[in-house]
Amino acid sequence: MPPAVADLAGARDHVLEVIARACSRAGRDPAEVTLVAVSKTVAPERLTAAVAAGLTTLGENRVQEAEAKVAAVPGAAWHLIGPLQSNKARRALATFDVIESVDSLDLARRLDRLAGDAAAAGRFPVLLQVNVDDDGAKAGFDPTDLEAALGQILELAHLEIRGLMTIGRLVDRPEEARSTFVALRRLGERLRSAQAGLGPALSMGMSADYAIAVEEGATIVRVGQAIFGHRPHPPHPA
Ligand SMILES: *Cc1c(COP(=O)(O)O)cnc(C)c1O
Repeated sequence: MPPAVADLAGARDHVLEVIARACSRAGRDPAEVTLVAVSKTVAPERLTAAVAAGLTTLGENRVQEAEAKVAAVPGAAWHLIGPLQSNKARRALATFDVIESVDSLDLARRLDRLAGDAAAAGRFPVLLQVNVDDDGAKAGFDPTDLEAALGQILELAHLEIRGLMTIGRLVDRPEEARSTFVALRRLGERLRSAQAGLGPALSMGMSADYAIAVEEGATIVRVGQAIFGHRPHPPHPA
């Protein structure tokens, strides 16, 4: 195994082990948790090694950066995890397999219309991003607004609404993130009990706090630096 692949395989094993231990504490099956390796700023050559190391679901936060990588790195599924401007919606649909960052009814409608035009088989999978902490710096639906808009979103014929996503606050200690994850899980439970059609996915947890997110029910964790190492500057906005 080339050294770059062996390094990344070791990092993957470590993260999967942390996920497995968190699952065992919570009485969950690790097969319920998808690891999205967040590859923003990581070069395509290294991502080719990542795919060879078994990191086959990659997360990017910019459409343009991802387009170049998707063309250069075969064999991966790609999740958009960053804010999507409506003028890039068409390109995002063509580039990504899942869009985790749908944060408004307008964007959902636009994606639905474009996904319908594309006439691809089936519905395009998305998650609804929620700002559960009511953090002014973060994108996402306000929980109350989401509750009001959800009926209209679930009627969109060309989208599959797999579940919810959140970006936690920056915290000093991982344990402080727990309340955010609990809030997202409860919001999902409440929304699903009120109306059918919202999927059970919960995308929450990053390098600093993914173990806690898994304890609280994450089905997708988005882990970058714990796999690829410290990101160079300038940091990308989340
Ligand atoms: C960058 C990013 C991550 C990963 O952060 P790490 O600290 O590198 O694990 C997760 N989610 C989103 C939305 C991001 O932008």
